[in-house]
Amino acid sequence: MKRIALFPGSFDPFTKGHEDIVLRGLSLFDEIIVAVGYNSGKSQRYFKIDFMLERIRQTFENQPAISVITYSELTAELAKREGARFLLRGLRNTTDFEYENSIAQINRKLNAELESVFLITSPNLAAISSSIIREVHRYGGDVSDLLPYRLE
Ligand code: ADP
Repeated sequence: MKRIALFPGSFDPFTKGHEDIVLRGLSLFDEIIVAVGYNSGKSQRYFKIDFMLERIRQTFENQPAISVITYSELTAELAKREGARFLLRGLRNTTDFEYENSIAQINRKLNAELESVFLITSPNLAAISSSIIREVHRYGGDVSDLLPYRLE
């Protein structure tokens, strides 16, 4: 049975920190599905979803084990539909841990087959966050070093 993992997130935008989690996840899973969600808590996206979908696909175009989709349903339901038994997430600090802990508990309740797997951030990428990138970009700052693709 193939080990399929879902890597769900807002990815607004997808960063080098996210890329690192996916690439390292390849040593654990046969397939990884990057799922770009319309997160209920974060209503308006900064980067359009189609734009981000295209950039993430471009990032992994030479990696047949990685696919990219969008979704707007419960992550636990999506995992069932995609045949994914694992949820891949990244941890940077204790704030991430608090948040991820409660999400993992609720996901387990919603889909008992689903196991959440966490990779600790690579130290050189620990400071990268989508929210900081949005702030810098909004005011015209250069964020190209933090993204695995070109924005233009
Ligand atoms: P969400 O809105 O669901 O929190 P994000 O797009 O912010 O989604 O992040 C998706 C996942 O990637 C989360 O598990 C988050 O902790 C993780 N992540 C974000 N940035 C980094 C980073 N620099 N290093 C490792 N993991 C990260």
